[in-house]
Amino acid sequence: MKQVLNRWVVVALALCAGLARAAEVMESARELPIVQDVDVVVVGGSCGAVAAAQSAAKMGMRVYLVTSYDTLGEDLAGTLRLWATGAEADSSPLMKALFAGHAASNALAYTTPLTVKKALDAALVKAEIPFLTGTYATDVLLDEQGAVAGVVMANRSGRQALRARVVIDATSRAVLARRAGAAAAPFPKESYTVRHVVISGRAPEGCAKVIEHPDWQPDRDVFKLGKSANFKPQLFECELSVTLDGSAQGFAEALNVARDKTFTFEQLDAADRLAFVPPDRIIAAKPSTTTWSDVAALNLESFRPAKVNGLLVLGAMGDVTREVAAELLKPANGILLGARLGRRAALDIQAKTETNVSQASLRGEQVKDAVAGDVREVSGTLTQPYATWSGKVACAARALPVLGETELLIAGGGTTGGPAAVGAARKGVNTVVIEKLYELGGVQTVGMICGYYYGNVRGFTTVIDEGVKAKGAIRSQAKAEWYRSEARKAGAQFWFGCMAVGAFMEGNLLKGVVVVTPEGERGVILTKAVFDATGNADVAAAAGEETEFYPAEELNGQGVGMAVIRLGAGGHNNDFSFVDDTDASDMSFFGLRTRSMTEAGWDVAQLVNSRERRRLVGVFQVSALDFYTAHTYPDTFVQYRSRFDLHGTASGDFFWSRQIRGVNHPILEANVPYRAHLPKRVDGLLVGAIGMSATRDAMSILRMQPDLQNQGYAAALAVALALKEGCALRAIPIKKLQEQLVADGVLPQSVIGTPDSHPLSEDMLKLAAAMIRVNYDGLQFIMADPQRALPCVLQKYRELDTHSSGRDPAVSLVYAHVLALLGDATGEDELVGWVSTNTWDAKWDTGLDAGVNRMSAYLLALGRIHSKKAVPAINQRIMELAAFKYVRPEHCRVLALVAPLIDDPALVPALAALLQAPEVSGHAIRMGKTIPPVEGYSSTSDYRQKSTEKTFTLREINLATALFRLGDSEGVAQKILESYANDPRGFYANYARRVLQAKGGNK
Ligand SMILES: Cc1cc2nc3c(=O)[nH]c(=O)nc-3n(C[C@H](O)[C@H](O)[C@H](O)COP(=O)(O)OP(=O)(O)OC[C@H]3O[C@@H](n4cnc5c(N)ncnc54)[C@H](O)[C@@H]3O)c2cc1C
Repeated sequence: MKQVLNRWVVVALALCAGLARAAEVMESARELPIVQDVDVVVVGGSCGAVAAAQSAAKMGMRVYLVTSYDTLGEDLAGTLRLWATGAEADSSPLMKALFAGHAASNALAYTTPLTVKKALDAALVKAEIPFLTGTYATDVLLDEQGAVAGVVMANRSGRQALRARVVIDATSRAVLARRAGAAAAPFPKESYTVRHVVISGRAPEGCAKVIEHPDWQPDRDVFKLGKSANFKPQLFECELSVTLDGSAQGFAEALNVARDKTFTFEQLDAADRLAFVPPDRIIAAKPSTTTWSDVAALNLESFRPAKVNGLLVLGAMGDVTREVAAELLKPANGILLGARLGRRAALDIQAKTETNVSQASLRGEQVKDAVAGDVREVSGTLTQPYATWSGKVACAARALPVLGETELLIAGGGTTGGPAAVGAARKGVNTVVIEKLYELGGVQTVGMICGYYYGNVRGFTTVIDEGVKAKGAIRSQAKAEWYRSEARKAGAQFWFGCMAVGAFMEGNLLKGVVVVTPEGERGVILTKAVFDATGNADVAAAAGEETEFYPAEELNGQGVGMAVIRLGAGGHNNDFSFVDDTDASDMSFFGLRTRSMTEAGWDVAQLVNSRERRRLVGVFQVSALDFYTAHTYPDTFVQYRSRFDLHGTASGDFFWSRQIRGVNHPILEANVPYRAHLPKRVDGLLVGAIGMSATRDAMSILRMQPDLQNQGYAAALAVALALKEGCALRAIPIKKLQEQLVADGVLPQSVIGTPDSHPLSEDMLKLAAAMIRVNYDGLQFIMADPQRALPCVLQKYRELDTHSSGRDPAVSLVYAHVLALLGDATGEDELVGWVSTNTWDAKWDTGLDAGVNRMSAYLLALGRIHSKKAVPAINQRIMELAAFKYVRPEHCRVLALVAPLIDDPALVPALAALLQAPEVSGHAIRMGKTIPPVEGYSSTSDYRQKSTEKTFTLREINLATALFRLGDSEGVAQKILESYANDPRGFYANYARRVLQAKGGNK
């Protein structure tokens, strides 16, 4: 049955795409980690699904819930059908919570997406039911008798198995029931009525019918209307006819048609999902033909698919009349049914003995004539309480459907992917965009960062800006719609709610991308080229390319935020935590935590606004020193422009000696070569967005929206050129590309024919070696080519003796410092002398001011030469800190870095004492019946908000890591690292686990 369904989907997709292909690929046998063993897994995040999870848990079951949507409540918050009758709003404790504080006016009560999400979150958190959003359940596990024994899920962390004795399939297409072998009634291809809700200042004109909701009057916290939105927002329910055939692509197209017809200049928000009563249903052993009376009258056996053991279907896909199905789509009824089915699942478990989850596996099948190649994917992590990692399940070799075929697949339709889609489609490239969310534009639209910070506002960015201005009054809405409508006009296809989760490879050639649809369909889109615009190098990582995220020497990151949405607001830019975007549980937990702390507003954005993510280590890796030395390249691809916008601390040694913020916070112009987008090994792939090949310091310049928009456009031109020339992406005629980019205003004429300005000339290095004596000027040239610079600096150091006025000790110390940074210990005694006789408060001498803390600068240098002579002085400095009332995180940072470099057990007692100083330890958190808030968080604050969580956690973890690596005789550090290894915040947990696993550290 599964294969029949798959082929049917393929045919439908092929028809939509104008392609005539029905094919499959083979995925080789493998093992997947088991996340947890539970009694009941609920798949789907509707209100009914939450009620089912709650009621099973009340019966003593261990329950887990997963949903592909990025929050709970896709049926209410995702459709924006935010109303209920007074009786409905009062029909269950969960409904009361969903409409809490929103009184019924006349006949209907209205709630907000934020209230809905918070109420559903709270229901599961209170019942201690772990749940993962952004996680797609794609397959069922079966035991030896063929009974359902859990699910396989795909997310940012790769794929995992969740073993369970009963699965409640609350997905809107009952895809897991089908996977388990359930038969379904046909879905005739014809015209269906769907409803799409928009909030706008004006009724949409393109729909068959528009239902107004004059009583919708949210309170003032919901709005932040600027001058551009001087109209009265209203809620409109738009009815339209669309052709559907049951395929994922058909639904994706329907959503696009709805958006085409409902967008207005005054739009403030629009639903992610359509409301629709499906014509098909899963065939149950006991179908129901009764008319609707209430949920209590329904026979639950109509929700048990015939010939399938261990699975119940929740919602409109039950074997009930379509009149009843329509009633079940109302959240109030969904909740009552969910509560009954959750209880039914528990009773089934109590009564049955037959399912043996220990024998669960993912079955497979061989197909002939499969497209040559195999699937590669990442194998990532999940945190506590989401995973206890209880073994592995076997997955047999199996066929995956080919869901489509295209010339260019863009993974991620965000800040970079959106412009790439418009650019490629306009160049006539057959383009498919796979976007996890339901809008294009990523951080700049869904994430509500709707304004430019520096960047070059030229080239395609100017084209975008003009289009967006004409498109709508609210920039986030207008921009998302401009990308969508322009690319669609030019023929691009969008698969919203879909995620790229793997690479289909033959040797080193990337032939396709493994995608999952919101309903859990997992298949491959074959393509000639891929632009990885996930901003997290997801496709590159899956393909096995080298990537990086954590800095090599310490735990460090750039602040992350999540916007609180007020309707009509221009944006919301905040910074209060850290996130590891490669960890699905961290992203899920971060959203949950943010919503729980947000008191008021319309909604919280569905996108984690991370400034730093996983990046490719490609053919060329751009470093911040490339900008500071004005590096030019023969293959300049895009130019960037910004201040060094670091939301945290930099990693490079240069920044420990030269303060680049403060008064001298210059605007930098940066060239970036095409090679920074090419993987070292894989062909057919360009990696862009903020997942490009650049160091974390460099990204503080390269991540601005105007430049990323031009980067997306340039990538589209590169692909178009490769297709036209019939050459590999790494072999395109670069000059031709540059000429086109010049013609389009993205690049200036001057880049064409420019040689590589590196390696730096000998004269330049000599000059820099002479200049550093004043304010460390020219240090960037020294640090950009340390090996060649060393003899020049040494020479200058020696020359100090030849001055008629004698050797100036202050200048000599500058050279001793720089030499040590280059790994040369010639000036060690001078440095040790200084750190032994000064304190943390010591200032720089006038004229030699490097800006950063002077003690830190010299300590790092002593670390670089592994100075044993410095140990007594360092011990002294550590004890000094431990005695302070407030232990400054920035001082601890350097000690944590330097101690393992010096690697002397004599440092152990002092480091252990520092960790036990007041407030230094104890910042790990646990998830329980409540979610610990971020200290100092305010939902109205911006990026300047003061929150100590980030600095205190980094201080504790980095000191503990240093101590652990040095020996940790009392086990103080191990205890701390273990507490973080079990922290729900993946950013810390993943780092702590790595340190613990690599016992002995860098010894
Ligand atoms: C809080 C914050 C404030 C900022 N402030 C400014 C500012 O004021 N001005 C400025 O110019 N810049 C600012 N920046 C920088 C800039 O906004 C970002 O660097 C930029 O938007 C990132 O673009 P991107 O294309 O790399 O990622 P995104 O815009 O996040 O796009 C990535 C897209 O890919 C999708 N996706 C991810 N993984 C997958 C997958 N596996 N499959 C399918 N889809 C996937 C995501 O849903 C998303 O839509 C800020 C950044 C942050 C985080």
